[in-house]
Amino acid sequence: MFNKSNVPKRCRKFEARFEDYLGGAPDSELDAHLTHCADCRTALEDSRLAGNLLREAWEPASEPSRAFLAKVMARIHQEEARAKSPAAFWTPFEFLASRLSLTAAVLLLVLSVYLVEFAPRRIVLPTSIRTELSANDFPQPPGDPVSNEEVLQSLAERNNGR
Ligand SMILES: [Zn+2]
Repeated sequence: MFNKSNVPKRCRKFEARFEDYLGGAPDSELDAHLTHCADCRTALEDSRLAGNLLREAWEPASEPSRAFLAKVMARIHQEEARAKSPAAFWTPFEFLASRLSLTAAVLLLVLSVYLVEFAPRRIVLPTSIRTELSANDFPQPPGDPVSNEEVLQSLAERNNGR
């Protein structure tokens, strides 16, 4: 953990106390030494950085897992409570049913407005639709000409631009 190469041999006894010192243990002798030993100050700072990095790498892994576990347990208790209560079991279905009936009502309203406003009358009033075709629905063919003379006469009348 400590970078030993930065610390001279005469400082090795202080280096061994770095960890406790960084952990918050008071060490007046080390304090005094650090004021006049740049090597130990640098080494201590390196150790502090290394410790911070190590904690940052360690704590995010442990903290969320604890929160995640608590969330999961809370969810399990929630589901258990719901399963034990029959009324609570039907709540989502009632919600869904109310949503569906509301949607159906809105659709029915829109459809009726559309039919009244835009649809042709014969669709709105189906009783006016004729279900059977009568002979009067077709144009009557002209009566059969009784003779060729009448045919010629009628043709002549058409050619004259009647
Ligand atoms: Zn030193």
